[in-house]
Parts: sequence; C-alpha cells; structure tokens
Amino acid sequence: MDLSVARKRMVAQLVKRGITDQRVIDAMQQIPRHLFVEEAMAAQAYSDTPLPIGEKQTISQPYTVALMTQMLQLTGKERVLELGTGSGYQAAVLATLAGWVYTVERIRPLALKARKVLDGLRLLNVNLRIGDGTDGWPEEAPFDAILVTAGAPSVPDCLIDQLAPGGRMVIPVGDKVDQQLVLVKKGHDGSIEREDSEGCRFVRLIGRHGWSEH
Ligand code: SAM
Repeated sequence: MDLSVARKRMVAQLVKRGITDQRVIDAMQQIPRHLFVEEAMAAQAYSDTPLPIGEKQTISQPYTVALMTQMLQLTGKERVLELGTGSGYQAAVLATLAGWVYTVERIRPLALKARKVLDGLRLLNVNLRIGDGTDGWPEEAPFDAILVTAGAPSVPDCLIDQLAPGGRMVIPVGDKVDQQLVLVKKGHDGSIEREDSEGCRFVRLIGRHGWSEH
C-alpha cells in the first residue's frame, strides 16, 4: 500500500470527523506517522487508532492528536510544552505549527528513539528532556500552550503557573482508565477558565503531580 495515499485517506477521515483547522490538517498531511512506529506496523500507521510503541506505551490515535492540537489554536510563533513525548509524533505535529516545542518523556528509551526520528525529519525546533514532566519545564516557562498527552488525576497547579497570560492548556483528566479532555485558558488578567470536552482514554501520567507508579 502506498503510504502517502493512506495518509491522505487518514486526513480525509479527520476532516469528516470534524477537524476544521486547515493548519492542523496540513500538518497531519505533512508528518509521516509511519516513521514513529515500528517498521512492522507501518501499514497500520494511517488507521485512526492508537498503536503500541514499546515500554507499555502508545502513540495516540490521529483524531485525538488532531483534536488536541486544534484546541490549542496555534498560529505559528508559540512556545509549546508537551508532556509525554512517547514516539515523538505529536511533538512533530506541534513543531510544524508553532515556534518552539519543549517536550518531556519519563522513559529514556522512548525519548532517545523519538529524538532520532525528530532529528531525521530535521525538526530542529524541538527540545526534548528526559524526566518527570508533571513539574513542567520551569526554566523555559512561560509557555503559550501546554499539551499533556497522558491521563492525569487533576490539573497540576504548577502547569497552570507555567502558562503565559492568554495561554491554553489541553490535558486529559479523570481516573486511571477514562478521562475527559480539559481545556484550561489563562486570561490576560491571569484569570483561569476551564472547559470540559470529549471523553478519551490515555495511559497514565506518572509523576510527582500525577499518578504514583504502582
Ligand atoms: N505524545 C505521544 C506520541 O505522540 O507518541 C503519545 C504519548 S503516550 C499516550 C504517553 C506518554 O507519556 C508515554 O510515553 C509515557 O511514558 C509518558 N509519560 C507518562 N507520565 C509522564 C511524566 N510524568 N513525564 C513525562 N512523560 C510521561
């Protein structure tokens, strides 16, 4: 199967499901998702489904990546923090839509693999750090947008603190199995608004301000 045809079909499906931001649609068309999964799974890479990436973790479903990215309303110059690099795919999509991406992954082998793929695609505006992302990345804060790609028990206050005035954060919040996407908006006056969006299922956000490991 021609993977570029499969990618076009995937993107058409995203539009059918309600993705409207043309920049997000173009980014999903541009980034080769098959490079972020094991070669043996390349043929499945353009199905609208999450896939295993090793270490009991997953690359998120394309629709979820597109929806969460769209909710950030990026215009091109933003500094974006992503927690949960995983395969690096979401970071790659963000890197084509924003100025700088700061992404944190707690599992070293995944982070190293992601770094390789991102470098191979010459996405030089992605900074990757290995560690507990629930602390954010205080040295680089504030961020115009924060995207958490693992399920949290609640919205960590330290991440709200690291959001710039006018900034947006998208984070799945719920129990260990089911969550809801939450959009947190910080006003220019520092006020905080929270909107609940679609239901979702993510692996757990494990760390100081997330779930405990066991
Ligand atoms: N965004 C990823 C992608 O595009 O492939 C998918 C992320 S996967 C659903 C969730 C990731 O979050 C896993 O790789 C997991 O190890 C990572 N994770 C969980 N807790 C974390 C934490 N406290 N800090 C950083 N990464 C974390």
